[in-house]
Amino acid sequence: MEQTKRRRLLLIPLPFQGHITPMLQLAHILHSKGFSITIIHTSFDFPNPSNYPNFNFCCIQDGFSQTQSSASDLLNFIIELNINCAMPFKKCLEKLLSDSEKEEPIACLISDALCYFTQPIANSLQLPRIVLRTGGVSSFVAFAAFPFLRQKGYIPIQESKLEEALEELPPLRLKDLPMINTKEPEKYYELLCRFINETKASFGVIWNSFEELESSALATLSQQFSIPMFPIGPFHKYFPNSCSSSLISQDQSCISWLDKHKPNSVVYVSFGSIAAITKTEFLEIAWGLANSKHPFLWVVRPGLISGLEWLEPLPSGFMKNLEGRGHIVKWAPQQKVLAHPATGAFWTHNGWNSTMESICEGVPMICMPCFTDQLVNARYVSHVWKVGLQLDKGVERWEIERTIRRLMEVNDEGMEIRDRALKLKEGTKICLQQGGSSSSSLEALVTYILSLES
Ligand code: UDP
Repeated sequence: MEQTKRRRLLLIPLPFQGHITPMLQLAHILHSKGFSITIIHTSFDFPNPSNYPNFNFCCIQDGFSQTQSSASDLLNFIIELNINCAMPFKKCLEKLLSDSEKEEPIACLISDALCYFTQPIANSLQLPRIVLRTGGVSSFVAFAAFPFLRQKGYIPIQESKLEEALEELPPLRLKDLPMINTKEPEKYYELLCRFINETKASFGVIWNSFEELESSALATLSQQFSIPMFPIGPFHKYFPNSCSSSLISQDQSCISWLDKHKPNSVVYVSFGSIAAITKTEFLEIAWGLANSKHPFLWVVRPGLISGLEWLEPLPSGFMKNLEGRGHIVKWAPQQKVLAHPATGAFWTHNGWNSTMESICEGVPMICMPCFTDQLVNARYVSHVWKVGLQLDKGVERWEIERTIRRLMEVNDEGMEIRDRALKLKEGTKICLQQGGSSSSSLEALVTYILSLES
């Protein structure tokens, strides 16, 4: 890029692990394309800026305390964040815009889709806003259909209709709609409305996905939204060795433990940074894993079991009796674990990052979605891409044992899933090569940003 054209980009992530990571990955990608980067972040949870010497950082006050748990009331946390951050963000933006007159011009704002408060502010300051949606395109299509689905009476979902197919959004069933467990469903619908409408009002959407994976959802959205779409993922494969943006320290003992195991022999189990399970579910999972007789590496994040610290419910001697067949950690270097030859399956909650990371390594999945887009992702993994099995009959030890065996032991079904996962992995490599779909889409994004007049 010519020196005269150097522009600065302002990026604002939502302060959750699954949103910060892809935003920082995008920052690295765009920095490599010649843009200067300023990250605007909230004071709640953020990685240490000194790990990112190439970027500038601006902190805005969000009014939350560090002890406040975002996971226990996700919905209200996001709503409050959108209210609390508006004024500090506006002031920060005004200052950055006035300073930029002396330095590089600011080309645009790139905002997490759930930071919808940024759209009217960017508008008022005549700064183009591009959205980063950190989830998949297929789940976004389902979110965008909410007003229509409510009008048709599908939502609120009646208990008796959960298994019914949703003809308008195949292959989803009503139970796969991206819902959240809340006593205030109207608040959720309102939030989705803002999130969709402010995305529609933006200058375009960047996706951590690739054309070949979600072509039909991308085509649907392009008809509904008259803004450009840039599927440039998988983000984490552009710079595989870049500094980790993990908010929790990753236990490297996972790798030496995996080194001791045969190829494709270990079930890796993790439910991401937010999902919580009950004590009963925890015990069913523990016994299901133990009874399957397959080695397992299990991430039990402190706080994963609602109301408990860590592993209190585990019967004494449980791990000792497994004689090294199980390893439990608080947080794993997940991308390295998935890339390890010993990892044979990923039992996941199907957060979008985990789903993409598994697809990129060709690791078949056992799907146990908890809420929102995870429900759609799991359905796509098991019924569209067919690279995993969904635990459909609840979290019960016999069902867990049966599902692990279906995937891990020699049988036609398991082998076919593994073959498809490996083919999909090849697709993720091709899309990033020169002339591949994501690589071309990134070039188009760079040209588009340079064409924006702020
Ligand atoms: N992750 C990790 N170590 C773990 C579990 C998860 O580094 O032990 C990372 C994982 O690689 C992914 C992110 O945390 O990038 C989780 O994001 P995802 O969208 O899958 O789920 P969320 O946490 O948002 O529910």
